[in-house]
Amino acid sequence: MPEITEWRDRLWRYRLVGSKCLSCGARYYPPRNSSCIKCGGELVDVELPRRGKLLSYTVIYQAPGIYRFASPYIVGFIELEDGTRLFAMLTDVELDEVKVGMEVEATFRKLYTYGDSGHIVYGIKFRPLVT
Ligand SMILES: [Zn+2]
Repeated sequence: MPEITEWRDRLWRYRLVGSKCLSCGARYYPPRNSSCIKCGGELVDVELPRRGKLLSYTVIYQAPGIYRFASPYIVGFIELEDGTRLFAMLTDVELDEVKVGMEVEATFRKLYTYGDSGHIVYGIKFRPLVT
């Protein structure tokens, strides 16, 4: 079982917070604790836009233990409105409805249940944009 790290990870799990490089402007999600991998510059936390576009996706049929309950599920490669690219689970979309290029937005959902304690871990997923 993974270590429970919600307290440490709460910023990027509960809000869409990433890292921005003060030197070159590169953005990362989830946020990095070290320096920029492109230029070595200093990173600061930055709130990311909640909307983006689905660049690509894959369907996970053989999920790791904690996500087994959710399979099959879709993991999207998403570009946010500011150009930040990230991987995230998709929700509220069926396997035969998902399309490359679709507009998506961040939403707060259950990720998994932790061990036998029944402790539910929540976080960010993306869903088709609701207009
Ligand atoms: Zn940089």
